[in-house]
Amino acid sequence: MTDTARDPWNRLSRALSARRIHSAYLFSGTGPEPAETALRFARGLACSAEDGAPCGRCDACRRSELGDGDEPIPLDGTGKKGPLLRHVGDHPDLLWVERGRDDTRVRIGQIRALQHALRLQASESGWRAAVVADAEWLNQEAQNALLRTLEEPPPRTSLILVTQSPAGLLATVRSRCQRVLFPRSRDDVAPSEEEAEWLERLEGVTQASLPELLDWAEEFRGVRAQAAESLTSFLQVASAWLHRRTTEDVMAGRELDPSPRLQAFATLQQCRKGLAQRNANPQMMAERALIALHDARG
Ligand SMILES: [Zn+2]
Repeated sequence: MTDTARDPWNRLSRALSARRIHSAYLFSGTGPEPAETALRFARGLACSAEDGAPCGRCDACRRSELGDGDEPIPLDGTGKKGPLLRHVGDHPDLLWVERGRDDTRVRIGQIRALQHALRLQASESGWRAAVVADAEWLNQEAQNALLRTLEEPPPRTSLILVTQSPAGLLATVRSRCQRVLFPRSRDDVAPSEEEAEWLERLEGVTQASLPELLDWAEEFRGVRAQAAESLTSFLQVASAWLHRRTTEDVMAGRELDPSPRLQAFATLQQCRKGLAQRNANPQMMAERALIALHDARG
């Protein structure tokens, strides 16, 4: 896997030039990069060059550009001291919502204003983008409102949620979005495409049915050495995922029964050992691991 293939922008840029656009994305990662990438992606969607990035020259790009030295208009979740949402530059098809300057959350009124704008302003040509930055600051009521747009996405519209921590979002919201993970810092390496895909699937593991889990485990069938190597990588990714998920739940003050989590960690560890020391069957180890992950719900 090359470094460029690990870069989230690379995947998004390819999707833009092929116009293979999902109706919803979840960009997650710390620092400014996820929001900056959401802005670039939204501008790329509006750009008439359809070249995988905003060309900077066409009419749409000029409209979506922020003037030199201009600060974006500050939003206000109550709508009293500023607008609830804004356009990117003054492009009518690019909408942006984020937490108001003095606010403790992204308010439901802002989500409703966004939905209202999406209903009113059908684009005459091209794509529309709606970015919800600071999505970890959406409360449950606002997320439920947003869910309606995710369930019935408007045509040729892409909704991009940007969050530092996806664990704060409802599983029903997360599962409807294409996940795009950003490395924690420039020094960290972003997950490979295979790892990114595993991480996306892990988000749904607690809701998966037994046949789905068994199907998934079957992917680790085949030449033993290769299957064992692949499963070892998967077990590492799954342990790190479970660890991060548990930390996020604790930080968010969620009450959880620790025993299924501890059991899952122990099972992942046993599977790793089984592969390395006992020549265990990878498919059977994958079944055990996936069922343990499924049972570690919460
Ligand atoms: Zn352009």
